[in-house]
Amino acid sequence: MHSKSEERRKPSVIIIGAGMTGILMTIKLKQMGIDEITILEKKEKVGGTWRENTYPGVACDIPAHMYTYSFEPNPEWSHRFAHGDEIQAYFERVSAKYGVTPLVRFNEAVTSARYADARWTVKTSKGNTFTADFVVCATGILHHPARPDIAGLGDFKGAMFHTAEWDHSVDLKGKRVGIIGTGSTAAQVIPELVKLAGSVSVFQRTPQWILKIPDHHYSESSKASWRKNPRRLSLYHYLYTKAVEHTFSKAVIGKWLQHRLADYLCRRNLRKSVKDPVLRAKLTPNYRVGCKRIIVNGTFYDAIQKPNAHLITDRIKQIEAKGVVTEDGKLHELDVLVLSTGFHPFNFMRPMDLRGEQSDIEHTWQKKVQAYRSIFIPGYPNFFLMLGPNTPIGNFSVIAMSEVQTQYVLKVIEKWRNEEFDAIDARPEALRAYNEYLKAGMSKTVWVGGCQSWYLDADGDPAMWPYSWQQWVKEMSEPDMRDFTTRTVGQTEPVLTGSGRS
Ligand code: NAP
Repeated sequence: MHSKSEERRKPSVIIIGAGMTGILMTIKLKQMGIDEITILEKKEKVGGTWRENTYPGVACDIPAHMYTYSFEPNPEWSHRFAHGDEIQAYFERVSAKYGVTPLVRFNEAVTSARYADARWTVKTSKGNTFTADFVVCATGILHHPARPDIAGLGDFKGAMFHTAEWDHSVDLKGKRVGIIGTGSTAAQVIPELVKLAGSVSVFQRTPQWILKIPDHHYSESSKASWRKNPRRLSLYHYLYTKAVEHTFSKAVIGKWLQHRLADYLCRRNLRKSVKDPVLRAKLTPNYRVGCKRIIVNGTFYDAIQKPNAHLITDRIKQIEAKGVVTEDGKLHELDVLVLSTGFHPFNFMRPMDLRGEQSDIEHTWQKKVQAYRSIFIPGYPNFFLMLGPNTPIGNFSVIAMSEVQTQYVLKVIEKWRNEEFDAIDARPEALRAYNEYLKAGMSKTVWVGGCQSWYLDADGDPAMWPYSWQQWVKEMSEPDMRDFTTRTVGQTEPVLTGSGRS
């Protein structure tokens, strides 16, 4: 006799990307009894951002015991802020443990995805074609390295690479190294460069606010006790989550007390860490704390004060064969130039050729990169964009966000399994109303605090979540079916679910 769950129809699902979100989605689908899953991964390993970013000093600035899946605590973290290789190993381990890895087709990038009649047809770089009921786009946010638009960039004769494409064959020992950028990545790389290189020239366009939270090495006895008692680890996860939720996460959405605290801590860190008033002035931002992502780092200020480190605040005029020329006319001769210039955060799945019912993604997003509840793009039924625009990336841990979004998506798929529809699409009016709702909250946030950052879209609007974390979790707890149209195959007109609203 079949159990109830076996009798229900099972969807086929294509997941694009085997990073943190793709692994999570696969685990959760499998736990629902859905096993027709194909994961298409452009590279040779799982891990996403942690596979790509191997620059010296790479680490996570969210406490490690919080930066784990809630269902898979890790007693082995060596430090409060886990190093990149440990995080990569964690994802590889979890992926193997839950049977995700065998489902991944490696070195197979998606080139196109087309929708018709409640099915997606996906083509890949290997010339294969797959079809499925649903596509989950788990391609991440920060994975398209941005190269600076500086005259002569291609003329440089030394070694040059982006932080996300670190060239480990280049020996930095004793070399004259230049680095463009002072974001979260640069703050981690520069202290390592200063240890290795002969000289390090840091080209800073805008200073950053830096919060110092001491790192901590976890002893073998701590790890042994966590192995014995995993509930203690869950408690750590909970406590860190609550701490971030009630401090940092509220500071950025306009809560006065939390913002004052963040402001005080960043200013005090700068004052205490950098004694030279000239250098301190150069390192002092002129915008509100949190407007750009607050950098959590305990080593950058020490590093920039080392005798072989040079902070250069004159704007870059051009790049020549021998190095970087600044606007004061000085040539900074270099052997190696590191581009720590961030990413194109609004590319998402592109350059993939994604086509919905009537349009392709280039046209759909021509005016604005947007998605209903960050996940649904109207006109692209049965397609889930994970960590899409306005996900609370500036407020919280990205793993927690993926867990919330995954539950939301699973609830939609559950309705499909209950044969409530074959295809589900967000209504354009629902997207408009959602955007208005976001806009209404944005003016109170720090992201409109007069700075440039990767949080801002082409219109200068922060693609962030302007309300509290709890509010987001609550609103994401159940799909509001009034915001969707649904269809069953053969039906000519879509059905407005619920009463519909605008
Ligand atoms: P980023 O924050 O976007 O910083 C890019 C840097 O490059 C900025 O300092 C920017 O200056 C500079 N820059 C860009 N174009 C330039 C040009 N043409 N001339 C001079 N300077 C230029 O990039 P990121 O540091 O790679 O960090 C991106 C995000 O990745 C972070 O915000 C964070 O979310 C994530 N991240 C997380 C961790 C972690 O530990 N969890 C670690 C690293 C990164 P302006 O400020 O003037 O634009």
